[in-house]
Amino acid sequence: MWRYLFLIFSFFIFQAQAQAQTKDKLIVTSFYPVYLSTLNVVHNIPGIKLINLTKPTTGCLHDYQLTPQDMVVLSRADFFVVNGAGMESFLNKVIKSRKNLLIIEASKGIKLISDERGENPHVWLSPNLAVEQVKNISQQLIRFLPEKKDAIEKNAEQYIVQIRKLRDEMKNEIKGLKNRSFVTFHEAFPYFAQEFDLKISDVIEREPGTEPSSKELVQIVRKLKQSQSKVIFAEPQYSAKAAHTIAKESGAKVYHLDPLVTGPMTKDAYLEGMRKNLQVIKQALN
Ligand SMILES: [Zn+2]
Repeated sequence: MWRYLFLIFSFFIFQAQAQAQTKDKLIVTSFYPVYLSTLNVVHNIPGIKLINLTKPTTGCLHDYQLTPQDMVVLSRADFFVVNGAGMESFLNKVIKSRKNLLIIEASKGIKLISDERGENPHVWLSPNLAVEQVKNISQQLIRFLPEKKDAIEKNAEQYIVQIRKLRDEMKNEIKGLKNRSFVTFHEAFPYFAQEFDLKISDVIEREPGTEPSSKELVQIVRKLKQSQSKVIFAEPQYSAKAAHTIAKESGAKVYHLDPLVTGPMTKDAYLEGMRKNLQVIKQALN
């Protein structure tokens, strides 16, 4: 009788140990663009589970406040992959409450564009810098998961080849466009413009939720009227009301350029989104 009990007991101990050893590492990403990069770095690697913290409809994290549910998710995480560059203003709170959480910063070492409002976090919209982010995520993950080095490197390299191919395609197509300047809706595109030698002549709504004042509207309309370029890029995530008002007053045309902060949670979503953006740019600036 005791022998049987002992056997059963040993069996449960063995099971618990096996479970502890095979427990997946949980990687949590802060928002959509970081999720897409990380997904490409870790996909098909056993022993890694990836989830995105914020809802797919959240968009940019400017002024985002963590919910109690977010804190529960983070309490289970082994890694938290963030964009950095000031996008996650709640980061200090997370670091304070979860001292053992390993934080991976995708924008580490990237030269940021600054203006009077501070550093601009929309780094991923430059394909070159998206490559840097993929390198940052993969290298930092390898440091903590050396046993996954080969698989992570292989994934990262494959994805980087795809992004670079897309970048070359875009450069080729954009370099011949006559018109080089446009107005954007929120401050998402300076890295994109920098990479493709384009010029943002104005920003309509500095950040989602802050409508331009009537004085600002008048100024933008005046500038557009004087400008050679009559193109406004609105974004699918935000109301295009202000953009249409300006368009009506200035005779400019509104197109939709996607900052890729919402969309399908699939591996190729960044590449596909950028290809769509290329088509919009070609149509608008030709
Ligand atoms: Zn933003």
